Amino acid sequence: MKIINGIGEMQLFSKQQRGKGKTIGFVPTMGFLHEGHLSLVRKARKECSQVVVSIFVNPTQFGPKEDLDDYPRDFEADKALCEKENVDVIFYPAAEEMYNQGKTFVLVEELGNHLCGKSRPTHFKGVATVVAKLFNIVKPDKAFFGLKDAQQFAIIKKMASDLNFDLEIVPCPIVREADGLALSSRNRYLSKEQRAEATVLNSSLNLALEMFKAGEKNAGKIKQAALQKIEGTSGKVDYVEIVDFDSMQPVLKAEKGSLIALAVFFGNARLIDNRFFE
Ligand code: AMP
Repeated sequence: MKIINGIGEMQLFSKQQRGKGKTIGFVPTMGFLHEGHLSLVRKARKECSQVVVSIFVNPTQFGPKEDLDDYPRDFEADKALCEKENVDVIFYPAAEEMYNQGKTFVLVEELGNHLCGKSRPTHFKGVATVVAKLFNIVKPDKAFFGLKDAQQFAIIKKMASDLNFDLEIVPCPIVREADGLALSSRNRYLSKEQRAEATVLNSSLNLALEMFKAGEKNAGKIKQAALQKIEGTSGKVDYVEIVDFDSMQPVLKAEKGSLIALAVFFGNARLIDNRFFE
């Protein structure tokens, strides 16, 4: 397994592999890898001949008061996990390598106005910019993204289509702990008590899905029930919304394929989760 720090070296590697007729599968991450990330790596391994994982805690997607400095990092552990999954390359650039006084940003309009975009107004601009850069550096045939970050997925897909990136964006299902909590690098911020309470994210989504299956289509009522369930814990709700997946606009009537998404703080840990109505 190669570890590449430089943009030029990464681009050269990809050019050479493509020249040999290899396909490149790409998994962008911020590191501190867990089974959620590894599920993306395994899918990439199955579908492509070369697998590149990037590990980069991207400063431009963090707000000024957010957890950039505290964000968990463990490159040695990440390296061992990637090795075990037969990753070919870890692209591991420094922030100075990625942002050399850059003045250019990518903004996907409208899709970022709701959900996480409301409380993190500069977040998706940072995400879209770094992903566009990574696509130009790694030049993948396929890039794998988790639906845990459903709004991010929708934004990246739109960006890739609008800017004519010649690659496929592959969605991957949410990986959860046995008790339903979605895996996240941020779960490590939780105290034992908060960790136990955090299962309410999944159970409130379950409740919403059950109501929908039982015939309730009123988005307001479903939201209210999910909110009430969370309000019985120490979690502080940032949002619970039911949206149309293509536009990310809130809907009044839930339909098959609508997305219920939520963000809840437990202490300083802001956790997100979502589910599609089916
Ligand atoms: P991150 O390191 O948090 O930026 O995540 C990198 C990629 O892993 C993103 O595409 C995430 O959506 C995905 N991911 C993170 N957690 C999970 C999970 N529990 N299940 C599936 N994908 C995930």
